[in-house]
Amino acid sequence: MTDDLARYQRQMLLPGFGEEGQRRLQESTILLLGCGALGSVAADMLARAGVGHLIIVDRDFVELTNLQRQVLFDERDVADAIPKAEAAKRKIANVNSGIRVTAIVDDINHTNIERYAKGADVLVDGLDNFETRYLANDLAVKTGRPYVYGAAVGTTGMSFPVLPHTAGSAAWETAGKNFATPCFRCLFEEAPPPGTSPTCDTIGVLGPAVAIIANFQVTETLKILTGNFDRVSRTLLNLDLWANEILQLKVDNVYEKTDCPCCRQRQFDYLDGKSGSSAAHLCGRNAIQLRHRQQADGIDIAAVAARLGKNSAVTANEFMLRAMINDAGCAYEITLFPDGRAIIKGTDDTGVARGIYAKYVGA
Ligand SMILES: [Zn+2]
Repeated sequence: MTDDLARYQRQMLLPGFGEEGQRRLQESTILLLGCGALGSVAADMLARAGVGHLIIVDRDFVELTNLQRQVLFDERDVADAIPKAEAAKRKIANVNSGIRVTAIVDDINHTNIERYAKGADVLVDGLDNFETRYLANDLAVKTGRPYVYGAAVGTTGMSFPVLPHTAGSAAWETAGKNFATPCFRCLFEEAPPPGTSPTCDTIGVLGPAVAIIANFQVTETLKILTGNFDRVSRTLLNLDLWANEILQLKVDNVYEKTDCPCCRQRQFDYLDGKSGSSAAHLCGRNAIQLRHRQQADGIDIAAVAARLGKNSAVTANEFMLRAMINDAGCAYEITLFPDGRAIIKGTDDTGVARGIYAKYVGA
């Protein structure tokens, strides 16, 4: 065993691993979509396991209510308003300096996901909404890369590793179609209407439920990266820890039974930008995210801070600006990122959010 592998000795003892499996991990790249509860647990474990390159994309910054379950972050990150992707990168540097982390502070959408996924062997889901999951699934199926779905809310969680039916792709050539699974859209044909699903903010979320789902995702990812496709779970994991229910639903025949627009008809509506929007309701936070594409070449944060600072409480750093605004008797919090993306807190109305943005940041 060479020195660079010594730290992984306990892992290499496992069946299906060995030095060869460890080397495969070292040569692998993961795109981690979101670095909240699921993502921070996954990032930590993937880094410790020795995955060579982690690309972490997250649009948010660390808040106090995250700390109950988002294990990579601490009170300092909250005080300094550090973006989650950047905070994760800093923590991982102390955990495993032998791997590479690329931190990207951005909202994942159809205009950027292909760029961020460049070179990634597996897409790991740390998301909080259906729309972006369909987008990730589209990319996975189109390019024949595995996508490891995970979700947790309340005391429940779900997970499923998608090995796409995409002939000619690396995964297909290695694993063969015998190991291909239904895709995310085969399993969940349509997103529930906005406002109808429980969110972490409306019903809460149990830290251990998140950690179990994230670790299940990591385990499946490690199986895939080490080439142990015959070991990859073929069931949809569905658990409720508070009710003591752990179900593994057989979904093998779903692919044959559906006429899935994504993996059967090969229509990538989300990736093509035909579905989805530039304004997103943020998972139960009484907040709207706005993305103004025309400002993609950048916003002068310092100039906006100087302008807003005359009448409002403003904090700003190189990653973002945050301003507390009082508008017509209503309190709003604007968080603005250098690329023009903004999160408007204090409303769940897209129109109101656009109005506040236009008024205080400029359309
Ligand atoms: Zn499908």
